[in-house]
Amino acid sequence: MTQALRVLVIDDNKSDRALIIRQLQREFSPLHTQEIIDAQELERAIANANFDAVVTDYQLGWSNGLDVLRAIKAHYPRCPVVMFTNTGTEEIAVEALKSGLDDYVLKAPNRYIRVPAAIRVALQRNEIRKQMALLEIRLQRLLNQVKVGIFRATTDGTIIESNSAFLELLAVKSLAQANEINLLNLRNDGVEWGDRLPPQQEREVQFQRNDGSESWALLTTIPNTVEGITVIDGLLEDITDRKRAELALQQLNTDLENRVRERTAQLEAVNQDLEEFAYSVFHDLRAPLRTIQGYAHILLEDLNDSLNTDDREYLQRIAVNAEQLDTLIIDLLAYSRLRQADVDVESVDLSRVLTIVVAQLQQELQEQQAQVQIQEPLPFVQGNRLILIQVLTNLMSNAVKFIADGIQSQIMIWAELYENHVRLWIKDNGIGIAPANRQQIFRPFIRLHSAEEYPGTGIGLAIARQGIERMGGQIGVEFHPGQGSQFWIQLPVAEEFL
Ligand code: ADP
Repeated sequence: MTQALRVLVIDDNKSDRALIIRQLQREFSPLHTQEIIDAQELERAIANANFDAVVTDYQLGWSNGLDVLRAIKAHYPRCPVVMFTNTGTEEIAVEALKSGLDDYVLKAPNRYIRVPAAIRVALQRNEIRKQMALLEIRLQRLLNQVKVGIFRATTDGTIIESNSAFLELLAVKSLAQANEINLLNLRNDGVEWGDRLPPQQEREVQFQRNDGSESWALLTTIPNTVEGITVIDGLLEDITDRKRAELALQQLNTDLENRVRERTAQLEAVNQDLEEFAYSVFHDLRAPLRTIQGYAHILLEDLNDSLNTDDREYLQRIAVNAEQLDTLIIDLLAYSRLRQADVDVESVDLSRVLTIVVAQLQQELQEQQAQVQIQEPLPFVQGNRLILIQVLTNLMSNAVKFIADGIQSQIMIWAELYENHVRLWIKDNGIGIAPANRQQIFRPFIRLHSAEEYPGTGIGLAIARQGIERMGGQIGVEFHPGQGSQFWIQLPVAEEFL
């Protein structure tokens, strides 16, 4: 239920009071009026504080409207008071308005209706004022609750207003102290903005708080015009913890990088040592092998006639095995070198590489009466010429080697050009490779046949794969039953071919 509006009606004239009350009743419901006709009643009413608005005449037998107004406003400054009179002068009206009178209505027959309207307006004004005050309190509370510093500064960087969080962030007690920190640093910029507005900015600032501690904050400044004057509104957000974490992380990264660099240097030194060690081991191994081979041959030649069949075979086996071991050592050395050395790539003409490879394999190709068919023209690739010669030599010598007895070797070579890479195919008509073995044959020492069937060390394809991968390419094999093997290498196409 709405509470009744309580109005004091102060007038010596009974019928005037009745008229006012009637008008009030038309406008307000529920309504409670109290008629005051002497000073005691007024005093009592003021003491009881049981009214919301007052309508008073000016001319009273026991007082006057101005005194009544002052008495009421002295106790209840917000309580609406409307003066309704025909005896007041303009001076009185001005005086009354100065003392806080809400409205002044001349007492005339058709003016009664104005009294409730004046009260309503005054009440509404009060209500709005109350709401605004509440809003301001709420806003202020909110501004003081947020952890973000909020401030307003002049264009020279002097802070003129702030919330409490701002002062806390700077560890200061007053704006004067805050200004000593010169956070905005505008005064030192020497930039004269004149009529222009400084641009909106967001930057990280490092500053010393009043308590001496170092802090970081995210400072956002927004230019604003308030009543024609340019000001800078700003936000200050504490990012000290984040910044400290960032710095710690940076330090950690630097330490880590240093450690990685140290370890890499150590590893490189170890690698270097190992390479030298491997080289000297290979070298030292080959020398006695060559001696064994040499003596085996001398014995075979010198004792040729006097040797029985078994002895000759033993000596021959010694020579063949020593030779095989020597080849293995050479292959292993090539493989280990390829793993370590830096590989330079350039534009390489595949046709020229194949011409060299075919020339190098001339003897083996002739022995097998091999037919080599190269589909020209072949493109240029990004690669290393020497490694490519070695890889293709290994692939082609396998192509003529792994072939059934009595079959004439046929090798076909062609290239496919894709968007940015080239795939070179080497197809033979040999014994082929079962799909299950397609991955493992590229590992070192993997051989699918005995040395008696097909001689070899099992390193050739490992070298090929290592070499191709060091050049940023790929290698693989496909097998179509009854059709031999189809090896391929894939490399980036040379830049001039793109
Ligand atoms: P190696 O030729 O010395 O035996 P590789 O590493 O070159 O060693 O080859 C590994 C194995 O892969 C060979 O022993 C053979 O079993 C198989 N292989 C390689 N190339 C071919 C081919 N063109 N046709 C059939 N088998 C092959």
